[in-house]
Amino acid sequence: MSPSPSSTPLAIELRGVAKTFGSVPVCRDVDLAIAAGEFVTLLGPSGCGKTTTLNMVAGLEDCTSGDILLAGRRVNELSPVERDVAMVFQNYALYPHMTVAQNIGFTLRMRGTPRAEIDRRVKDVTTALELSHVVDRLPAQLSGGQQQRVAIGRAIVREPRIFLFDEPFSNLDAALRVKMRAEVKQLHRRLGVTSLFVTHDQEEAMSISDRIAVMNRGRVEQFGTPEEIYARPATRYVASFIGNPQIELLSGIVEAHEGGPVVRIGSELVRLASSLNTPAGRSVDIGVRPEHVRLGSGTLAGRVRLVQPVGPSSHVVIEWDGGSLIAAQPGFCRLQPGEPIRAEISAADVMVFDHASGVRLS
Ligand code: ATP
Repeated sequence: MSPSPSSTPLAIELRGVAKTFGSVPVCRDVDLAIAAGEFVTLLGPSGCGKTTTLNMVAGLEDCTSGDILLAGRRVNELSPVERDVAMVFQNYALYPHMTVAQNIGFTLRMRGTPRAEIDRRVKDVTTALELSHVVDRLPAQLSGGQQQRVAIGRAIVREPRIFLFDEPFSNLDAALRVKMRAEVKQLHRRLGVTSLFVTHDQEEAMSISDRIAVMNRGRVEQFGTPEEIYARPATRYVASFIGNPQIELLSGIVEAHEGGPVVRIGSELVRLASSLNTPAGRSVDIGVRPEHVRLGSGTLAGRVRLVQPVGPSSHVVIEWDGGSLIAAQPGFCRLQPGEPIRAEISAADVMVFDHASGVRLS
């Protein structure tokens, strides 16, 4: 957990939160502790319960059990307005007949904020979001990215304690998504408002978050920094969800070998870290990330099946009688399909998961 002085309450805390729709459990035992100013992402595949969790924090859904605390205060019974959170949705539904300035100032007008103050706050927000030159336009006269920034502006102008984002970029094209990620991250750095963000895009989560909660079937499977989640995944599920191309998982049995434990994959022996404290005979899955496979020399003898250049690197699929691996090579790779190839995987880089439980052993 992030360091948080004991005098400062956590900004958002979920304690044993569960949600059941009818008899179907969608969130189970969700515990999250988010410090003031953190940017946290709920990440997981469609249907794993991310939006439901966010909606419970917002007050748009009740919890079936458990407690939600904001700034140290239990808020289960409070309405969304009383919770002082602002939400940005994927369908940002701007008012089509209002200008950018009117859209952004709308909630302040509803609250009866004095005109001069509305003007000042709308000006600050449109300047921060680089919308000053379009304040008098209607939504239909804006690009998708500008519309999304207006939606974010509407949330910011209220100066809430917490921002909640539900897949806010999913209607934008790929290039714009990447740009908006950087904008939201910079905005967060500037404003420092605690933010909870939902996405199913692991790259988006990695690039934008202080910490990521990886969800699987209603549970938080791991909560950690992007580096922890990537380099030290707690489970096989987390390891396979994070990383592009995906980590390669190969099943085998641990064997004792002179020089340390190994796993036999087909005719090849993959060496495991000597510190791995697991008995011979255990069924495991080993996980190898593409950047940890070195080509050209080594003990693993296979053939090139496919070469996929992606610009800065090439993904080389190699196969042997026991399985296949993807190796990431810098630049454009000249290898040809069918060529014999040798590969090396250093024992320190091999992740080992218990086959039955999926929990990482090393
Ligand atoms: P997505 O990215 O597709 O939105 P998600 O991880 O956000 O997925 P949720 O929207 O939280 O998932 O939904 C979790 C599960 O709960 C899904 O199986 C969904 O069908 C179900 N669900 C959500 N809302 C309701 C509801 N009001 N009534 C019944 N089932 C619901």
